[in-house]
Amino acid sequence: MALKTAQQYIDSLRELKSDVWLFGERIENFVDHPVIRPSINSIALTYKMAHEPEYEDLATTTSSLTGEKINRFTSLFMSVDDLVKKVKLQRIMGQRTGCCFQRCVGMDAINAMYNTTFEIDETHGTEYHKRFREWLKYIQQNDLCVQGAMTDVKGDRALRPSEQPDPDMFVHVVERRADGIVIRGAKAHQTGSVNSHEMLIMPTLTMRPGDEDYSVCCAIQSDSPGIHFIYGRQSCDKRKLEEGDIDVGNCQFGGQEALTVLDDVFVPWERVFMCGEVDFSGMVVERFASYHRQSYGGCKPGIGDVLVGATATMTDYSNVAKASHVRDKIAEMNHLIETLHACGLAASTQGTKTKAGNFLPDILLANVCKMNVTRYPYELCRIAEDLAGGALVTIPSECDLRSPEIGKYVEKYFKGANNVSAEERLRMLSLINSMTFGLSAPSYRTESMHGAGSPQAQKVMIERQSQMESKKKMARKLAGIDEREKLTD
Ligand code: SF4
Ligand code: FE
Repeated sequence: MALKTAQQYIDSLRELKSDVWLFGERIENFVDHPVIRPSINSIALTYKMAHEPEYEDLATTTSSLTGEKINRFTSLFMSVDDLVKKVKLQRIMGQRTGCCFQRCVGMDAINAMYNTTFEIDETHGTEYHKRFREWLKYIQQNDLCVQGAMTDVKGDRALRPSEQPDPDMFVHVVERRADGIVIRGAKAHQTGSVNSHEMLIMPTLTMRPGDEDYSVCCAIQSDSPGIHFIYGRQSCDKRKLEEGDIDVGNCQFGGQEALTVLDDVFVPWERVFMCGEVDFSGMVVERFASYHRQSYGGCKPGIGDVLVGATATMTDYSNVAKASHVRDKIAEMNHLIETLHACGLAASTQGTKTKAGNFLPDILLANVCKMNVTRYPYELCRIAEDLAGGALVTIPSECDLRSPEIGKYVEKYFKGANNVSAEERLRMLSLINSMTFGLSAPSYRTESMHGAGSPQAQKVMIERQSQMESKKKMARKLAGIDEREKLTD
């Protein structure tokens, strides 16, 4: 079964025996939990789109491993065109969910591991790449959802992994057996972890000699013994437990982050793709980060499209849409959104082929893309809050709107221009509220800041990739300090 439907995906989650905790309680049925379900719906849409004829070209592709039709979220990017299509697909997914749809992390991790394992084998004579290909075929053939698990909890940030007073601050190998390894530690704020069938564990930073036990990449099933998910709180998450749907805003879709505890998890050797090769830990981090920073040029403009649409609708509701300053601000929002997308597309079109055969986006442009994402969504939210008005944070609840006693006042005093009902205004304000303040968590803002690495990580990569010596040389030549270019013989 190469292409699951949305329903098959949701049903497949019911078969997992995952250990999920929320609000201090173990959740037996996480699939139908009202706080968790919107995040499952977001991933379900990645399965649904694969069956929509209109999006066949974006949402599906032909596997380079099996020749079968597969979901793009399990694919290897075998050309620049594949990189471009990923970003275009993510923009549409962002438009349809208005939030993080989680499945890209695994797709990006798959691609980073594919080419890194190839190069580890080339240097060390290991067989990680062959193992990885076999595992990936299984993922593609069963259309599984994979989570990329990179971010360690890190403990004392000034100390190396092997120097930490508590050795579990970074995921590490605690036992090597004839049949496999045992790993321990925790991965922080893992996107879509509960909703995935599999996890790809990767190191969080470049390791050095002495950190061998921490240089580990492997695949584990998300309901393996020893894994505990502690679900991340989201702003106003308990509104999802209330009756009605207005106060939640985006109640159909949501994101998901969880602390993923790995308490002595056994991994058979055929699922181990790096074990002790400190010299390649930096490569997998840099490549995964580049793929995912390119991805932000897809999802974040897509979510921005919803936000500008909601903001413009609010200006229609109050009949100020034609005012010149309003049109100017809406144009500014669209300018920011398209700039984000342009960066994602540019990083894709400048992609190059790796030794393993799959393509990597331009590392500098991918980091520039993500650096812009740490800034522009803040400006988008600022303008949205400006134009939506203070009611964004002062509207009465749905219960007040429905109240037989005072509902009439909410109806009367919150109605918009041209007979727009109070309910429509409350719904649109709640949507903006949920997107900007984080109810459809993680918030558009904070996720843009820290997802795929905090801004300083991009600055470091931009610094490394900017070829400053050659730029200084350009200046020295034109200033006449170095020999000027000869135009004639
Ligand atoms: Fe995909 Fe964006 Fe979520 Fe990352 S932040 S998983 S790119 S939707
Ligand atoms: Fe993210």
